[in-house]
Formats: sequence, C-alpha cells, structure tokens
Amino acid sequence: MGRGGESTGPSERFDRSGRDARGTGSRAPAGRERLRKALAELRVAVKSRKVDPIVAAYQTLHDSANGVSPKNIMELAIHALGPEARDAIVSAYSQRECFMCTRGQAPCDHCAGNGTDEDGEACANCGGTGVAACDFCRGTGWADRETIPDEIRDIVVQRQLSQVHKDLARLARAVKALGTRNLRRLPDKHRRELAVWLAQMQARLRDLCELETVTETQVRQLEDAAARVSSLQKLTMQG
Ligand SMILES: [Zn+2]
Ligand SMILES: [Zn+2]
Repeated sequence: MGRGGESTGPSERFDRSGRDARGTGSRAPAGRERLRKALAELRVAVKSRKVDPIVAAYQTLHDSANGVSPKNIMELAIHALGPEARDAIVSAYSQRECFMCTRGQAPCDHCAGNGTDEDGEACANCGGTGVAACDFCRGTGWADRETIPDEIRDIVVQRQLSQVHKDLARLARAVKALGTRNLRRLPDKHRRELAVWLAQMQARLRDLCELETVTETQVRQLEDAAARVSSLQKLTMQG
C-alpha cells in the first residue's frame, strides 16, 4: 500500500511537468533538455573558474549537442553564457595538466625515484634528482593536446604561448633576484625546484616549436628562449 502511495508522487510530478510543457506550446524534445542541462552545467563550471569542471562540462556540451557542427559548439556556449565563456574555456584547456606526472616530472625509472644507484652514487639517468621527464607529456606537464576540441585547438596554443612568455619573464625576474652566479650555490632543495621548473620550460618551448600553427617568428622567439633556459640549466647543474 505504502509503495503505491509513494509511486504517485513522481508520476504526479511527471504529469505536472507534462502539463507545463503543453501549456507553453510543445513538449521539449529529450535532446533539447540534454542540451539545456549541459549548458547549465557549463554555467556552474565557468563560475567556479576550475579547470577540470570546465573541461568536463564543455565535453558534455559536445556530447549533448546532437546535430550541431563541432565548429558551432563554442558559439552555442557564448550565446547561452556570454562572451566570457570562451575565455574561461580556452583558459581551462590551456592550463589542463597531464594526469601522469607533476609539472612534467615523474619518478625516475632507473632509481625508482631514490636518486641513487646501488652503490649510493648519484643515479646516472636523473643526475640524482630522483625524477625524470614524464613520457606521457614529454615533460611539458600539459594534458594531451589531442584531447582539445578542434574548434579551439589553435587559440589554446596561442594562450599557452603567451603563458610560456609570462613564465619566462617570471623566471628572468627570479634569476635576477637570486643572481646568476649564485644558482650553483643554492641549497639542494631550491636547486632541484629550479631544475624542475627549467626542465618543464624547456619541454614546453620544444613542444610549441613543433606545432604547425606556430609562426616562424614565434618559433625564433621560442628558440631564443630555449637557449637562455639551456644556459641556466647548465649553471644550475654545476655545483
Ligand atoms: Zn634516477
Ligand atoms: Zn606528464
């Protein structure tokens, strides 16, 4: 008996929503409802400014927008959420991290992350740091670029380029503050942190250089930066 009573609740709600839908004209098709939900999820994610929820919600929007050309998905998001949606989505994809490593570095295979070999000598593979470039992202720390939707892949690359240049400026300020000559005398912990940063920068510069959408001028700038980072790496390693 109780069960029968409970079951009228949901069905009443269903009927009511049916009446509401009829009242406004036609019942919304399931596809349109899915799209509406996906846009609502994206709205919440964009407000949160968090990378993973935004990426997940944009993916859901892709999956929900049946019959909409992938090229028009972003237009759909902008139409519903306003122009700032594009910026939030591009920013999220450009910052999304590789899930296999931390900042492009994974524990070294040769020494299992210990930094030393069986004789207690510094591991030849990782130079005693215990970490090596992640195979999955080739040391960039970025999520696989293949997972970026086609319609925003080029702008994500441009966003990553400008982030790299900002990071280079931050690096230059940090090195200036420390004094180039002092790099090799940094305490081990700091020297390792700097080494990880430099290795990630180097991997990102190399990665961007190889992309077709990056212009020749941009490649030259990246190569110049790579040379500067490389000389800092040498300075940091001596000691
Ligand atoms: Zn090692
Ligand atoms: Zn990685």
